[in-house]
Amino acid sequence: MRLFRSVCLLLCVAALPACATRAPGLSGAAVPVADAPRSEAETLAFAASSDDERSLFPLSHSFLPARRSSLAGRTLSVASIEDIDLADGEVVITFDDGPMPEKTPKILDALAEAGVGATFLMVGQMASAHPEIARQVAAGGHTVGTHTERHPNLRTMSFEAALAEIRRGEASVAKALGEPPAPFFRFPYLADTKALRARLATEAMVPLDVDIDSKDYFRDAPDTVMARTLGVLQAKRKGIILFHDIQARTAALLPDFLKELDRLGFKVVDLKPADEVRLASR
Ligand SMILES: [Zn+2]
Repeated sequence: MRLFRSVCLLLCVAALPACATRAPGLSGAAVPVADAPRSEAETLAFAASSDDERSLFPLSHSFLPARRSSLAGRTLSVASIEDIDLADGEVVITFDDGPMPEKTPKILDALAEAGVGATFLMVGQMASAHPEIARQVAAGGHTVGTHTERHPNLRTMSFEAALAEIRRGEASVAKALGEPPAPFFRFPYLADTKALRARLATEAMVPLDVDIDSKDYFRDAPDTVMARTLGVLQAKRKGIILFHDIQARTAALLPDFLKELDRLGFKVVDLKPADEVRLASR
């Protein structure tokens, strides 16, 4: 399975067409994730990835054992969306749009201090721009999935162009990591389509949906974001939480947020690709 995924990814990269679509831009500013894409005038702040996409993919993926802290919960082996079957009091912490200097490392420090793992859905161009931080995330034992190459709204694109965006994002993150990312994907702006979801399912790719949106892209104070997120969480009692590791306010609030989760008795669950968990448990 693992070999199959790696080979598939390699084949996809080999077949990667030149991306002819335009990028609406990243969601780095105060743009609601579920909103329409940003204007084309808002351009990326960094260069596109290099075109050397061949010398990739050692067929291994690091796996660290379950974390030991009062806040750390189960490690879920995930082969499909149904495997993310959270119990009352269980949360998954996810970060989109990075990696980004200063902010992502601060977030890694807070997670390490609390002894919990998270899932990072990286934008391909961000990983290409900051490969050392991408590797730092993986070295911290966190799960790295993908979030397209340039963060477009895939609903505005043809099926083939959308698929190419997803593939290119995977290739860039793989190149930055030096190994394939987890087959976990988040739709930019949470803008999915039935056709793309069906296609991803045939490839054992798992779309990570969101139960609790921190809305950390709004220009609120860190305390406001934290109170809002905890409020929704306490009402829902479990779920996948969405943060963005490109936001300074998120890096600022995370230590207190994690302490509060612990005080309230929540458990932070790790998501790992099913084949990786099987390999690690042999
Ligand atoms: Zn995003």
